[in-house]
Amino acid sequence: MAVLPIRITGEPVLHRRAVPVESVDEALLTLVADMFDTMEAAPGVGLAAPQVGVGLRVFVYDWTDEHDVHWRGVAVNPELLVSPLELDELDEDDESEGCLSVPGERFPLRRAERALLRATDLDGEPFEIDARGWLARIFQHEYDHLDGVLYVDRLAHPHGRAAQKAVKRNSWGSPGQSWLPGRDHLED
Ligand code: ZN
Repeated sequence: MAVLPIRITGEPVLHRRAVPVESVDEALLTLVADMFDTMEAAPGVGLAAPQVGVGLRVFVYDWTDEHDVHWRGVAVNPELLVSPLELDELDEDDESEGCLSVPGERFPLRRAERALLRATDLDGEPFEIDARGWLARIFQHEYDHLDGVLYVDRLAHPHGRAAQKAVKRNSWGSPGQSWLPGRDHLED
């Protein structure tokens, strides 16, 4: 098992649609184990394969909710159904998210309150999780990665422009940049 470099926005694999996993083989098991190590080292609450340079439809998550329920797992070839977005005003404190591929930055984004995740596990068994709140947000964020979408692509004005400036300020947005959890320390 190993901690992998996390690709930073601008790397093409982050901006294109990932392809379905065809079979759970030794290579996929190693990838998923490394993704858990990388997520833990970062640390993060979710990580999608494109973030470690692999364009496959798989993500991992690790989150303890407000009721102390620990949600940890891997979603292979997921589908996601989401509830309609509420239209009330964004709460910048409660609704800001970040991304390990846009490290050290956070911006507010409205997400669906509920998300139904359907995926298979590493044994090829289908499962379903009816997620609420922050877990639903994690699933939406990670699922987006599999479609080549970063949360900063979804920001409403004026946050979208602020994110573009942050990318520019950090000299991101071009191919070939990454950071290694445990080696590179990020200002946050
Ligand atoms: Zn992300």
